[in-house]
Amino acid sequence: MIEHNKIYIDGQWVESSGDGISHLVNPATEEVFAKVPMALPEDVDKAVRAARRAFIPWSQTPAVERKAYIDAICEKLTERKDELASLISQEMGIPVHFSMGIQVMGPISGLQIFANLAESMDEVTEHDGGYITVKEAVGVCSFITPWNFPLFQVIAKVGPALAAGCTCVLKPSEQTPLCTFIFAEVCEQVGLPAGVFNLVTGKGSVIGDTLSSHPEIDLVSFTGSTEVGIDIAKSAATSVKRVCQELGGKSPFIIAEDAPVAKAVKYVIKDSMFNSGQMCVQLSRILVHESQYEEALEVAKTVADSLVVGDPTDKGTFLGPLSSMQARDSVVRYIEKGLAEGARLVTGGPELPEGIDKGAFVKPTILGDVNNDMAVAREEIFGPVLCFIPYKDEAEAIAIANDTDFGLSSGLWAEDKDTQMRIAKQLRAGQVKVNGPAFSFAAPFGGYKMSGNGREWGASGLVEYTEEKAILTGR
Ligand code: NAD
Repeated sequence: MIEHNKIYIDGQWVESSGDGISHLVNPATEEVFAKVPMALPEDVDKAVRAARRAFIPWSQTPAVERKAYIDAICEKLTERKDELASLISQEMGIPVHFSMGIQVMGPISGLQIFANLAESMDEVTEHDGGYITVKEAVGVCSFITPWNFPLFQVIAKVGPALAAGCTCVLKPSEQTPLCTFIFAEVCEQVGLPAGVFNLVTGKGSVIGDTLSSHPEIDLVSFTGSTEVGIDIAKSAATSVKRVCQELGGKSPFIIAEDAPVAKAVKYVIKDSMFNSGQMCVQLSRILVHESQYEEALEVAKTVADSLVVGDPTDKGTFLGPLSSMQARDSVVRYIEKGLAEGARLVTGGPELPEGIDKGAFVKPTILGDVNNDMAVAREEIFGPVLCFIPYKDEAEAIAIANDTDFGLSSGLWAEDKDTQMRIAKQLRAGQVKVNGPAFSFAAPFGGYKMSGNGREWGASGLVEYTEEKAILTGR
C-alpha cells in the first residue's frame, strides 16, 4: 500500500488541517492500492499565502537561473520515469508501456521546451513611437487538473508558470494525485525556493472554490469538464483573475473522398481508442463519404476487434480499463443510449470484454448509422466508443464537423494538398490533425467555443503566464 500523509506547502511537508483520507482504487483490479490526505480550504489559504510571499523573489530571479531549476526538474523526473509510468498506470489504467511515452517522457520533453523558453522572458522590444515593451510574470497561479493525463496536465501548467516567474498552488485530480507527490519531491530535491510550488491534494467540491476565488491568486488554470470550468470562471470573476479553461471536446475526423479509406480508418481507430478513448482530443465523430461508408465500417470492425483489451502491465495490451468503475458505468450508458437512439452496433457493446470478469473494462465499440443529432454524437462519452456518420459532399462534411458545442481538436485525411488546407481552414477547432501526425509538445493547444479559451504548450503556453508591460518615455 502506498501511503502519503502530508501535503507540500512553503517548502515543507505538512499535515493537512483535516483528517480526511482518499483511497485510490486500481481500476484494473478494483483494489485499493494507495491513500492520500485530503486538504481543506485553510490548507489552500496557507499554500496561496506561501506562493504570494515567494512571488516577488522568484519572478525577479534571473531567467537563466529559473531555466536551470527547470532543467534540474526534468533530469530528476527522468530518473524516476519507471516509477511515474507505473503509478499513473495503476491510478487510471493506461498500459504501462504507453504510460512511459505519452504520460511521462513526452510531457518531460514539453517541460524542457519551457526551460528553453524561460530566457525569452528577459526580452525587451523597442517600438516605433517611443515606447518599449517588457514581459513579466502574471503572479500567483492555482491549477486544477484532471485524471486522464495526470503528469502531462500538471507540466502543461507548472512548466510555463515556473519559466515565466509565477508561483503555483496545484490541486491534482483526487483520482490521480500520486505523480504529483513525486513532482513535489523533485522540486524539493532540486532546491526550488520555498513557496514557489505548493501541492494540495483533495476534492474539487471541497477546495476548488478557494482555489478559484482566493483574492491572492492572480490566475487560475483549469483542465477538466466544461461544467466545472464554467463554475470556476464564475467563482474567479469577482476578483477579476485571469482564467484559463481547457475543457471537453467532441472532435470530428473527416475522411475526404480522395483518401485511402482503410489507412485513414486504421489510423483514427487506433488514435481514438488510445488511453481507452479518455482524451479530450478524441476524434470521436468520424465522417465518411456515403460511397465509402460501408467499406469504412468493415475496416473499423476489423481494426477495433484486433485491439487487445486487458492487463495494463502486459506489453501486448492496447486498452487497459477505464479510469474507474463510475467511468465504465457512464460509458456503458452511452453505448446503450446510442443503440436506443437507432445507431447500428458494428462491434463492441456494453458487456465486459470476453475473458474479463472484473475491472473497469469496456470493449472497443463502433457505432454506425449515427446522425449528428444523437446524444452519442453531441456529448463527450470519454471512452472507447466511436461514431461513424455518413456525408454527401465536402460542404456537408464541414457543416457536420462544425455542428458541435465544442472546438478542441479535429482531424482529416485527404491526399490532395489543396483539399487538406481548404478543409483544415474551415474547421472551427484549436488544432487540425492532417493525415495522422503525432502530438506536438511545441504547437499551441487549446479550444474554441465551449472547449475553452486557453492555449497550452510551447511558446503560446508561456504567453498565458505573461503580462506585457509598456514603458513609455516622454523625454
Ligand atoms: P472534472 O471536471 O470532473 O475534474 C477536473 C478537476 O476539477 C479535478 O481536479 C476535480 O477535483 C476538480 N473539480 C471538480 N469539481 C470542482 C469544483 N466544483 N470546483 C473546482 N474544482 C473542481 O474532469 P475529469 O473527469 O477529471 O476530466 C475529464 C474532463 O476533462 C473531460 O471533459 C475532458 O475532455 C477534460 N479534459 C480537457 C483537456 C483539455 O486540454 N482541454 C485535457 C484533458 C481533459
